[in-house]
Amino acid sequence: MRTGGMRYGAGRPGWHVKAENCLRLDIQDLARRKLLGGAFFTWRWSNSYTGEEVGSIGIATTADCVRLNFNSNGEPIHQELRTVRTPCHFGGSRPWWQCPRCWRRVGVLYLRNSSFMCRRCGRVAYASQTEDEMGRAWRKQRKAERQLGENWQRPKGMHRRTFDKLLNVILVCEEQRDAALVRYMVKRFPAFVRR
Ligand SMILES: [Zn+2]
Repeated sequence: MRTGGMRYGAGRPGWHVKAENCLRLDIQDLARRKLLGGAFFTWRWSNSYTGEEVGSIGIATTADCVRLNFNSNGEPIHQELRTVRTPCHFGGSRPWWQCPRCWRRVGVLYLRNSSFMCRRCGRVAYASQTEDEMGRAWRKQRKAERQLGENWQRPKGMHRRTFDKLLNVILVCEEQRDAALVRYMVKRFPAFVRR
């Protein structure tokens, strides 16, 4: 690295993301602190209510690239982001991220599924993740339902315990779907969540 012998990519244990819920990376925040174009630093997020640190990542910047280094769910993540500049009306230029998924120019990237991406791509990821989760629960439930009679009756010859177990599977599946939906709504519409 250009940063004078500093080792990059060694997976420093200090760089760790606890919750992905609201970790955002505004390129203007980096620009204001003059961290673009050749710097090596640690970026931290903290919970605005408790002050507790919720994540930190190692960042190295070059002229048109920003490299991120962090651990998410115990996995070391390295992500390389492209940056572009557009001229401003009154001289100078404004930096932008290029979303690594859709290549659109955006000011803010969000951490979703262990990688930073634009708001639009992040929502797509949420939606498909929720669909997966709900689909799994549905399939499991249908399998249990097929073993029961009409209206979830206990078929002749089925042990009471087997029957209770199957009913419980169905119940748990319904709860899982509800929970997945609530999680999706909370993430999709954070403005509606009041704590
Ligand atoms: Zn995108």
